[in-house]
Amino acid sequence: MTDAAFLQCIQPSCSATFALDAPIYQCPTCGALLDVSYNWSRIAVPSRLADFEKRWASRHNTMDYSGVWRFRELLPFATDADLVTIGEGQTILQSADAAAMGLSLKRGNLHLQYEGMNPSGSFKDNGMTAAFTMARKLGKQRVGCASTGNTSASLAMYASLTRLSNGQPMRGVVFVGAGKIAFGKLSQALDYGALTLQIDGDFDACMARVREAADRIGLYLMNSINPFRLEGQKTIMYRVLEALRWEVPDWIVVPGGNLGNTSAFGKAWIELKQLGLVSRIPRLAVVNAAGANTLNELVNRRGVRWNGGNWDCDAVCNHYDEMTKQRRKASTIATAIEIARPVNLSKALRALDAMNGVVCEVTDDEILEEKALVGRHGFGCEPASAASVAGLRQLLANGTIDRDATVVCILTGHALKDPDATVKYHTGIDTKGVSVSPSASKPTGRNANLPIRVPDNIDEICKAIESAR
Ligand SMILES: *Cc1c(COP(=O)(O)O)cnc(C)c1O
Ligand SMILES: [Zn+2]
Repeated sequence: MTDAAFLQCIQPSCSATFALDAPIYQCPTCGALLDVSYNWSRIAVPSRLADFEKRWASRHNTMDYSGVWRFRELLPFATDADLVTIGEGQTILQSADAAAMGLSLKRGNLHLQYEGMNPSGSFKDNGMTAAFTMARKLGKQRVGCASTGNTSASLAMYASLTRLSNGQPMRGVVFVGAGKIAFGKLSQALDYGALTLQIDGDFDACMARVREAADRIGLYLMNSINPFRLEGQKTIMYRVLEALRWEVPDWIVVPGGNLGNTSAFGKAWIELKQLGLVSRIPRLAVVNAAGANTLNELVNRRGVRWNGGNWDCDAVCNHYDEMTKQRRKASTIATAIEIARPVNLSKALRALDAMNGVVCEVTDDEILEEKALVGRHGFGCEPASAASVAGLRQLLANGTIDRDATVVCILTGHALKDPDATVKYHTGIDTKGVSVSPSASKPTGRNANLPIRVPDNIDEICKAIESAR
C-alpha cells in the first residue's frame, strides 16, 4: 500500500491492506480487526514532542484548540478541511497528592486524568471527533452505535452538530439496553435528538444487533470496532505525556469495558516508540469490574496472550460458551464497563503485550469506595472510572506496582453522569426505588457523607453545625 494512510488487518500472518474508505470493520480475508496504518516516511511528524505544545500559542485556530487534532500528525488519516471538531480534549491531569496519601503512594506520584471534562462528559468525544471526520468524509447520512450510555451521548452530540458537505444533517441512531443506562447519559441522547432505541437486552445484545443493522441498511458503525475511533483516543496518551512535561510515567491504569482505550493506548505507545518520540513505554494495568471480568478471566485464569497474533481462540470461545450455557450476563454498578464480550479483545491482547501489561478485577464496593476518594480529594468521577483507582489500590497491595512508581489513572467519565450511584453511596437511599427518609437509611461506605436532617429552626441548625466533626 503506497497511500500515506490505509486500513490494515492486525493479524501479523495476514496483514492485508485496504483503502481508507473501504466499507469494512473487519478483515474480509481472515476476520481479524483492522488498524488505521500509516507510511510514516510520507508524513511530516514533528521531530520533538515539545513541538506540539507550540500550538497552544494559536488556540484561536480550531484544530490547534482541539486536544485531539493538536496532535494531527500522529493520526494523519484526514486533511484539515475534513475535520469534524467541537473543541474536545480540553482535559486536566491532576497531581492528586491527597488521594495518593490515601493509597500510600508517594507525594507527586499519582496523577488523575479527567476525561470527564470533554464536551459530552466522557473520553468518548476523543474517538467520536475522529470517527465523525471519517463518516463525513464518506458522506454517511446515518451513524449508529450500541452503548452503555456515554458512546450514545457523545454520538448524539456530534451528530446534532455535524452537517455533510452538501448541507444535509446527519442522523444519529443509538441502541441502549432498556433499564441498563444511567439517567445522566440517557438524558443526553434524548436532548441532543438522537433516534434512541431501547432494546430489550444488555449491551452485548445491542452490540450484536447494531452490527447486523450496519450490514443490512448501511448504518455507519461508531463503536470502537471502528478503527478511526481508536485513532482519536490515542491522544489521551499524548495529553498525559504533555502534562507530565513529556516524561513517560511508569504505569497507566485504565478501566476495561469494550477495551477500546486499552487498544488505542497500546497503539499510541507502539507508534511513539517506533517514531523515536519516546525512549520507553509505560506499563499498562487494565481493570475489570468483577461482574464483567472477561479480560481478567481470559488472561489470568485461562492464560490467553497475544502470542504474536496466535492467541488462543479456543480458550476464548470456551469461556463464551460457558457464559451462554450458564446464562451469565455482565452485571456491575459500573454500567460503562458492564460488557461480557469485548469487541476489541484481540487488540487489547496486543496492547498488553506491547506495554508489559497486567489485568485485574475489582468489586462494586471497592469501586464505590475509590469513587468517593476521587470525589473527596479531586473533581469526582463516575463509577466505571473509579475502577482504575480501585485497581491501583489492589496492585499496590499485592506488590505489582511499586510505591514509588509514577502512576496515571484514567478517569473516563464525569461525576454527574450517574448521580444516583453517588447519592445512594452517601445516603443509602436508592433513588431509583421507593423514597425513604434519610434517618431510615444506612449507608455502609467508609467515606459516606450522610446529610443531616434538621428542623427549620436556627437554634437547631447552629447546633447541628457546631456539633459536626
Ligand atoms: C466507555 C467507557 C468505559 C469503557 O471503555 P472501553 O474503551 O470500552 O474499555 C469506561 N468508562 C467510561 C466512563 C466509559 O464511558
Ligand atoms: Zn486478515
